[in-house]
Amino acid sequence: MKKHLAIYGKGGIGKSSTASNVAAAMGEKGIKVMLIGCDPKSDSSITLLGGRRIPTIMDTLRKKGKIEESEVVFEGFNGVVCAEVGGPEPGVGCAGRGIIVAVQALQKVSRAMKASDVIIYDVPGDIVCGGFAVPITKGMVREAYIITSGEYMPLYAANNICRGLKTLNTPLSGVICNEREAEREREIVERFASALGVPMLAYIPRDKVVQECERAGKSVIEGSPRSAMADIYRRLAMRMLTEKDKKVPEALEDEDLRKLTQ
Ligand code: ATP
Ligand code: MG
Repeated sequence: MKKHLAIYGKGGIGKSSTASNVAAAMGEKGIKVMLIGCDPKSDSSITLLGGRRIPTIMDTLRKKGKIEESEVVFEGFNGVVCAEVGGPEPGVGCAGRGIIVAVQALQKVSRAMKASDVIIYDVPGDIVCGGFAVPITKGMVREAYIITSGEYMPLYAANNICRGLKTLNTPLSGVICNEREAEREREIVERFASALGVPMLAYIPRDKVVQECERAGKSVIEGSPRSAMADIYRRLAMRMLTEKDKKVPEALEDEDLRKLTQ
């Protein structure tokens, strides 16, 4: 069955880099993947397209009133198909509403979307006005992944995301730890995941190769395919494809979350 997943987490925690690397790793295995960037920064697909920015769905809709697939869908590294929702007019529109309009417009015209085995939504980190809830309530996202480090603030954001998932009855498939060199980081994130009843699917070390490849407009899978980091993203991609243990999460009480990090 088609997978429709989203990677959630605090702003700047590593959603886009993880999404694009995982997409590139799935593409390498011959899986048809589509990456839909839902962030107004429209930077999700940039490392799959050699650093190139593609026209966004919102911009194209604003200019022409409609979209064609060839205008907004582009094939990137390892056959990963990329589209960027783009942003509302600054100060005017609502990013959340924009995501639905854009993805619905894409669904109408995109053969690549229909043909994909996996659709990855890369969502913005610090979302306001229901933007988080929208792709889920509209039935676009069927399973969630949460990325966090062992620091308190990203864990706090991750826990809040669980509250949102619970309200919307959307299952969580696992937690991903992106290292920030916090003390006892692996243990803290493992305990957080196990308190939620889901696995910690990967521990991604902090490694400058991620940023070096990003500067070259590449994923790690493309820019440094034989690195240990590339293998870490490959393993995560495979676990995401095979993991069956998803469940609607029950967020921790704030006090229990605090104890976890002490
Ligand atoms: P936003 O919420 O703003 O969209 P994000 O969660 O998508 O942010 P990224 O853009 O993926 O975060 O990552 C932020 C920065 O951290 C990027 O420059 C990225 O290259 C870097 N980064 C992410 N993960 C790692 C890692 N494991 N090692 C080194 N650098 C990393
Ligand atoms: Mg991002």
